[in-house]
Amino acid sequence: MQVDHTAPASWVNTRIKQDEVFKYMDHGRDFIPDDEIEAKIRVDEGKEPDPQQVRAILAKSMAIKDLTTDEVAVLIRVNDKAMLEEMRQTAFNVKQKVYDNRIVTFAPFYLGNYCVNRCSYCGFNHDNDTCKRKVLNDEEIRHEVEVLAGKIGHKRLIVVYGEHPKNDVDYIVESLKTIYSVKTKTRNGTNSIRRVNVNAPPFSIADLKRINEAGIGTYQVFQETYHKKTYARMHPVNTIKGNYNWRLYCMHRAMEAGIDDVGIGALFGLYDWRFELMALVYHTQELEKRLGIGAHTVSFPRLQPALNSIITPDWPYLVSDEDFKKIMMIIRLAVPYTGMIVTAREKAEIRNEAVMMGVTQMDASSRIEIGGYSDVVTAQKENKQQFILGDTRSLDALIRDLAAMGHVTSFCTAGYRCGRTGKCIMDLLRSGTEGKFCKLNAVLTFQEWLDDFASDDTKRLSQPLIDREINEIKQKNPQALDIFINYYERVKKGERDLYL
Ligand code: SAM
Ligand code: SF4
Repeated sequence: MQVDHTAPASWVNTRIKQDEVFKYMDHGRDFIPDDEIEAKIRVDEGKEPDPQQVRAILAKSMAIKDLTTDEVAVLIRVNDKAMLEEMRQTAFNVKQKVYDNRIVTFAPFYLGNYCVNRCSYCGFNHDNDTCKRKVLNDEEIRHEVEVLAGKIGHKRLIVVYGEHPKNDVDYIVESLKTIYSVKTKTRNGTNSIRRVNVNAPPFSIADLKRINEAGIGTYQVFQETYHKKTYARMHPVNTIKGNYNWRLYCMHRAMEAGIDDVGIGALFGLYDWRFELMALVYHTQELEKRLGIGAHTVSFPRLQPALNSIITPDWPYLVSDEDFKKIMMIIRLAVPYTGMIVTAREKAEIRNEAVMMGVTQMDASSRIEIGGYSDVVTAQKENKQQFILGDTRSLDALIRDLAAMGHVTSFCTAGYRCGRTGKCIMDLLRSGTEGKFCKLNAVLTFQEWLDDFASDDTKRLSQPLIDREINEIKQKNPQALDIFINYYERVKKGERDLYL
């Protein structure tokens, strides 16, 4: 039998602080102009754009400059196969120029699935009576982290929470402390979680300050759909999430609260993907204009089947694989220096292709049932997951596949611990100097992981990559060589968490 998981009205009704929305609005108007976006995607709709015009836009991306929304609308119209391949190649080249051949990995960690909201596409929605509710206690969090850090070898997590008094800000802060406190022994050294990014509901400035003080990396909130009519259809108005603007201005509040790295996203498949893509660009432009820094990461989850979801297979806005690939390449071209995350919602084949289109972050060995890392069998049986995963590759298998494609897996978490966040990291990325630190830290952390966790096959495939990277450091960054070699030798002897 289900326990009553209804939250008290006194809690629900005090979540939204309207003054923390209005103060950012422009004479009561938000920054998503629905009609303007619809008009832009209708210009020359169905007509292939002039190749010269497309190439001029690609050249702008290659110079690491943001695209305008009109330029994005032109790229959306490209359907010619050869031109799409040029776009893909440019997207990949842009990523290589800014981020080199590095891919950052992480794991999602779901701490609770209680939720007061009724998002019609999510398995955790309040009305889904088949969902068994759970929130992890301190000991259970420790057990999960012991597997994540001690057995799989993760160093970065994205923690995920529903919206409910049981997973409120006090719980979030305590759970972050617990996660950071777990130290595990490994084959040749030790490991712990060094960076926790947070995917949680939108909070007030005061609550966001507390979350920031707990030492987080990126704070993520996805708008789901930027299209107001669809938003209202998916999120009943009498729920907290039913307030479009409370969510839309969350990143303004996060930055005001001192969180430098914010992650935005849209759940592709709820409405016309072209609209959502344009709106994501409007969102990054707004953050840049009003707060001086764009989004640190952009996410583009694609809607997956979930228990009790209202989305049926004939839903008109489901995104095909071809369109999904186009979305990824256009995001890379539109915001050349922004991190892009493709999650294990997608199948392995799509994720491998995504790497060749400029994504920078991927999860692996992912479990999205509550308690799913330490007790897979019970968690699966009890049906506590939000949706169904498409890529169930282990971290070892993902790293091996990436290495075979020439990509180094980075576990670097130096950024927020030595102040390379927000505007600082964005400026380094734009100017192409970020690689100076990141390549060094990528090699150090990759070597750590290989020594502590890799299978023999993965080690064999990856070691030549490390040697190649070290050679590149010798040639391109000789002034850092001495200190790098000193750190590298210490890592090989079992010292851990050294970074530059
Ligand atoms: N409860 C918080 C919220 O809604 O912002 C954060 C956690 S929620 C579990 C994380 C994200 O999962 C949502 O923002 C949404 O984009 C995504 N999501 C929800 N249902 C999904 C589905 N059926 N398929 C794919 N992604 C989904
Ligand atoms: Fe709750 Fe988030 Fe799921 Fe909506 S998407 S029902 S807010 S967990």
